[in-house]
Amino acid sequence: MYMIVTVKFFFLMQKPYVIADWRCKERYMGGDKIILTDVEWLERLGPERYEILRKKGTERAFTGNLNFNKEKGRYLCAGCGQELFTSKTKFDSGSGWPSFFKPVNDRVIDEHGDTSYGMVRTEVVCSRCGGHLGHVFSDGPEPTGLRYCINSVSLEFEKGDE
Ligand code: FE
Repeated sequence: MYMIVTVKFFFLMQKPYVIADWRCKERYMGGDKIILTDVEWLERLGPERYEILRKKGTERAFTGNLNFNKEKGRYLCAGCGQELFTSKTKFDSGSGWPSFFKPVNDRVIDEHGDTSYGMVRTEVVCSRCGGHLGHVFSDGPEPTGLRYCINSVSLEFEKGDE
């Protein structure tokens, strides 16, 4: 009897700590970089997300689950949980990929020149984990004139406030 009470007490004590720790880690807003090996990324993300986030793949146009999403909420990096975009800056570009005219701030996204496939483009990656998100183009709407063209697979949508 004493054993059972002790074990139950232990679980009650542990659970809130574990949840708090997980949320704190996954919702961190910049600062600490996440560096994992290829094998660790594959384990963490699964093959589909690994292919796009770590190997710079692209999901087929109009196939992503967030392309037509019009719900209010926040878009987090699927690799590390850093908040990247909100529904306020999402717009329908007709491109077949979720499109935003601005990230939540200029620290969450890093840009790299990309000349693959014979095109000159600007790749955008998550500043925390380096995960490939998509590309940014200069044919977006006001007020920025930018179009962040992002793979649904690279994002996790969290319904709620914008
Ligand atoms: Fe990330």
